[in-house]
Amino acid sequence: MLELVGLAKHYPMRGGLRVRAVDGIDLSIGQGESVGLVGESGCGKSTTGRLVARLQEPTAGHILYRGQDIGHWTRRQLRPIRTEIQMIFQDPYASLNPRHTVGTIIRGPMEVNGLKPPGGLEHRVKELLEIVGLNPEHYNRFPHEFSGGQRQRVGIARALALQPALIVADEPVSALDVSIQAQVVNLLQGLQREMGIAFLFIAHDLAVVRHFSQRVAVMYLGKIVEVADRYSLYGRPRHPYTHALLSAVPDADLDGPPRERIRLAGDVPSPINPPSGCRFRTRCWKAQDRCATEEPALVQLPDNPDGHLTACHFPEDPGTRGADVVLDPALRR
Ligand code: ADP
Ligand code: MG
Repeated sequence: MLELVGLAKHYPMRGGLRVRAVDGIDLSIGQGESVGLVGESGCGKSTTGRLVARLQEPTAGHILYRGQDIGHWTRRQLRPIRTEIQMIFQDPYASLNPRHTVGTIIRGPMEVNGLKPPGGLEHRVKELLEIVGLNPEHYNRFPHEFSGGQRQRVGIARALALQPALIVADEPVSALDVSIQAQVVNLLQGLQREMGIAFLFIAHDLAVVRHFSQRVAVMYLGKIVEVADRYSLYGRPRHPYTHALLSAVPDADLDGPPRERIRLAGDVPSPINPPSGCRFRTRCWKAQDRCATEEPALVQLPDNPDGHLTACHFPEDPGTRGADVVLDPALRR
């Protein structure tokens, strides 16, 4: 359904510098599939999401949607696609107009697109409110009358209004109380299954997507460093960065013995001037000379199942988990 090929987005800056926010990524999403995109803040997840929804135009590469490269389509060409690809944002407060009732907010996309649902717009909005677990009688209420979780449900209802084939959900639960997060994730999961909607689900840690995404891609500084079926990614991660991210997931969320925590030294380097070779090498406890000179390709390692791709010269053994990783003492927590 969607295929990203060598996709890049560079933001020009003063003095001829460029922020290489997304720097050549390949990723596909099948019909009705949920793909998770995970990585630390600043690694290019939101930019990837905005490119997929074509809110931005790529600097290089291709965005193939149902076989057509929509990467450089004009506003007019994109119009039919706009209804099929919807976005849900992190901040339900900022993304809802405070002066509009939720009825008006959810009706908006249908009106703009001239949709005439059977039974009328109000009827359809109430149906959508019910689908996302809100009281249809609250049609005339304003966003501030709802809790954070309820507001995110309004955002989800608005995204559903046009019956999209693909939803880009950019950290949809990160701003919510932990106790509410699971409820909203469960709602999205139900929608994905019942309506067959494909998802690009963006998160900054591996705990949230574990319950939601069939496949997970791990991003670091504008690149995908590992992508796999979730069982393979969580069960036999090969990239040191995936290990580090997994070690931050609470043990209660994972099977197996308790794992050692890996605290990554330092911050993510600047995407204006990323490290040569492997971009993770400056924070990696396994890095050797080769890592500085040769960029590792994202490939299937000999012991891995189909579709499990890793970009690392010195990958972890399959089967090792955070607990087995030999750490530089400076990197132990
Ligand atoms: P993430 O969502 O993973 O936190 P983003 O895609 O938001 O990452 O950002 C990736 C990088 O691109 C960051 O360094 C960010 O500062 C930069 N960036 C994002 N948007 C812009 C922009 N409009 N102009 C310049 N730099 C940007
Ligand atoms: Mg982001």
